[in-house]
Amino acid sequence: MSPALPETLRVLERGWLSANNILFLEGERATLIDSGYVTHAAQTVELVRHALAGRQLTRLINTHSHSDHIGGNAALKAAFACDILVPAGLHATIADWDENALLLSPLGQQGARFQHDGVIKAGDELELGGLNWLALAVPGHDMEALAYYNPEQRLLISGDALWENGFGVIFPELLGEGDGISSTRATLEMLGRLAIDTVIPGHGRPFGEVDVALDRAFRRLEMFEQQLDKLAWHGIKVIVSFAMLERRSIAQKDFAAFILGLPFAADVNQRILGLAEDRLVERIERELLLVGALQLEDGNLIANT
Ligand SMILES: [Zn+2]
Repeated sequence: MSPALPETLRVLERGWLSANNILFLEGERATLIDSGYVTHAAQTVELVRHALAGRQLTRLINTHSHSDHIGGNAALKAAFACDILVPAGLHATIADWDENALLLSPLGQQGARFQHDGVIKAGDELELGGLNWLALAVPGHDMEALAYYNPEQRLLISGDALWENGFGVIFPELLGEGDGISSTRATLEMLGRLAIDTVIPGHGRPFGEVDVALDRAFRRLEMFEQQLDKLAWHGIKVIVSFAMLERRSIAQKDFAAFILGLPFAADVNQRILGLAEDRLVERIERELLLVGALQLEDGNLIANT
C-alpha cells in the first residue's frame, strides 16, 4: 500500500517514458513538479487540467532537465501561462537550449524548447501546497539536480536521485564529464542522514521504508563502484529501452543501425566496454529479450510497455 500523503499534494504517477507529475493545491492556485516526456505532453496537460479542477497553475518546477521531466514544460506553459522554475545550475543549458548538455542528442531523445522564468538554488526554501520545502542538491544522476524536502511531514521529492529500487543512470560518470559515482555516494549518504518517512520518486509509486530503499541503492552503487562495466551496460540498456519505448517497434535487421546511431551507446562502448560493434548489438538485443523489455515477432523487435 502506498503511504498517505498530505491533502494538498497529488501524485500523477506515470510510466517510464514520462516522469511522475506532483501537483500541490494552493487554494485557487497550484504548483506542479516535473512535466513528463514531450510525446506525452498533450496527455500531461489533460491530466493536470483534470487534477486542477478549475484552479490556476501558477508555477512549474523541475527537479532536473532530463527529457522525461521537462518534455511537457512548453505545452503546460502554453496551456496555463505558468512560471517555470529550474535548478540554478541548469540556467545556461536551458537558456541556450544546449541539446548536447540536455542529453537530447546523445540519447536520441526529443524535447520542446521552453523559456524559464526563474531558478531555484540548493538551500532555497519554498512553500508548496501550504508546506515548507527545502531544495537539496542531489548530484550524481544529474550533477545539477535538486530534490525537495519537507521536515515536518518527513517527505522527500527525490526526482531520479532515489527510487524504491535504485536511482537514475549515473550519466556524468559514463560520459566522462564528472565524478558521478562519488557524487551519488555523497547524495545517498546525505539523504540517509535526513528523517524521511515517505519518498515521492520521479518514477514509480510513492514509498515508505526508506531505509530499505537506501540499502538497495547503496548495494547497487557498490556494484558500480567495483565494476564500471556494469554501470555501462545498465546505462546502455536503459537508454535503448527508452528509445524503443518511444519507437515501439523496429525491424530486427535495422536494430544494429538503430543502436549504433545512438551516440551515447557508441560512446560508452568505446570508452568503457571496448566491444566490436556487432558484439555490442548482439548482447543488447539478447539481454533486452531475456528481461522482456523487447520481444521478437515476425522479424520485428517490439518494446513491451
Ligand atoms: Zn533523470
